[in-house]
Amino acid sequence: MLLSNQELQKSINIHNISQGIFIRLKQNILREMEKRGHVLAVPYPAQGHITPIHQFCKRLNSKGLQTTLALTTFIFNSIKPDPSGPVSIATISDGYDQGFDSSGSIQDYVQSFKTFGSKTITDIIRKHETSDNPITCIVYDSFLPWAFNVAREFGIAAAPFFTQSCAVNYVYYLSYISNGSLNLPIEEFHFLELQDLPSFLSAPESYPAYLEMVLQQFTNFQKADFVLVNTFQELELHEQELLSNVCPVLTIGPTVPSMYLDQRNISDTNCDLNIFDSKDAAFCTSWLNTRPQGSVVYVAFGSIAKLNNVQMEELASAISNFSFLWVVRDSEEEKLPSGFLETLDKDKSLVLKWSPQLEVLSNKAIGCFLTHCGWNSTLEALAIGVPMVAMPQWIDQPMDAKYIQDVWKAGVRVKIDNESRIAKREEIEFSIKEVMEGEKSKEMKENAKKWRELAVKSLSEGGSTDINIDTFVSKGFLQN
Ligand code: UDP
Repeated sequence: MLLSNQELQKSINIHNISQGIFIRLKQNILREMEKRGHVLAVPYPAQGHITPIHQFCKRLNSKGLQTTLALTTFIFNSIKPDPSGPVSIATISDGYDQGFDSSGSIQDYVQSFKTFGSKTITDIIRKHETSDNPITCIVYDSFLPWAFNVAREFGIAAAPFFTQSCAVNYVYYLSYISNGSLNLPIEEFHFLELQDLPSFLSAPESYPAYLEMVLQQFTNFQKADFVLVNTFQELELHEQELLSNVCPVLTIGPTVPSMYLDQRNISDTNCDLNIFDSKDAAFCTSWLNTRPQGSVVYVAFGSIAKLNNVQMEELASAISNFSFLWVVRDSEEEKLPSGFLETLDKDKSLVLKWSPQLEVLSNKAIGCFLTHCGWNSTLEALAIGVPMVAMPQWIDQPMDAKYIQDVWKAGVRVKIDNESRIAKREEIEFSIKEVMEGEKSKEMKENAKKWRELAVKSLSEGGSTDINIDTFVSKGFLQN
């Protein structure tokens, strides 16, 4: 890690170096730093994609690389990022600078992003070409495989960033090489049943355009310099090995802020690019601080998932038997049972529009996390060591839920009613009890703790993720 001004000054005092030598030393270090390459990172414009790539940029910064994060104009205007952060922010266009109109088709969006995104990323690279810090690598969301071509046009390095687990990526890859089909049982994953597969594979007819998008991730990934996956080796030993057999994988996760795990980068305390308003953060923490240890069920379904009215009612009824903190986004609020908010026992339970999730998960009051099993939420719970009640909705979530319950053994998956296809209140309540106080509760809590310890180790000096990030930094992308 590079020395700060203060640290340098201290070292000068110790070694009795003159001010002139100090300035020359600092200039040399800065010149070296400039030569260390400049990564342009391009996330897909959704919360669950922006956060991990931004966090990865912070890690690269702490290792001396320069980073610029390219946000779409609409997301930039929604977040209004703090310009003094360690990662520079640039804007690109997806062709929908006023926001994506949900009446439009996803195919149109993907095409538009490719056209406008390629052009505006090209502009950023050109702008830096003659500067002291030209772009030397593009780290792009695996949902944007066209960014590979932009990188190669400029002869610079290219690395897709996958925001799903190695297991999910490999299953998608198997489907990609079989032209979108996948028959059970899968040889490498004999334990997966239909209900465990990503929804685009178990029900390909449900969202054909999204299926195409997830399969497109694999069109050129084998040509990339590195394939980055937000996971850690110990969590997915077998799965990352399978993926390594087909592409140059580096596991670089969990991309949780350093201060929650290895604590080596004291400025990396939070995920600070929030699309949603997090003004309730301070109140949420002070409320949690009043609750007994391990007593609160934290309920959150990420940034996209939508529950139907009946499911919302079943969930509300089930969690009312516990003390809970429930994130109900603005767009979901109208589905709450009538009178629910008005009759809430506010000492025992709290409903918020958006929470500081890592702060919440780290609070001693939390007993379990009732989650939709988005990959970030899953990794965050494992990294903090919180057992889960899994209520997957779609995309990769069913497979994450399967792993949470049967592979990592850090939670329970709520059973779905065969007829209505929803999770009934009795099942939700039963699963929460199982995790909070049931027969296997102790084992699940211990396993969650074990995954936390391994996550900390992987990010600490010499750990698997740390070594992989060093590989990326040192082999990658030094300027000529
Ligand atoms: N998140 C948050 N506060 C909330 C709900 C979610 O900060 O109230 C964050 C969460 O920590 C995670 C991201 O939003 O980093 C959601 O990503 P995930 O992959 O879990 O789900 P998605 O939103 O993509 O479905």
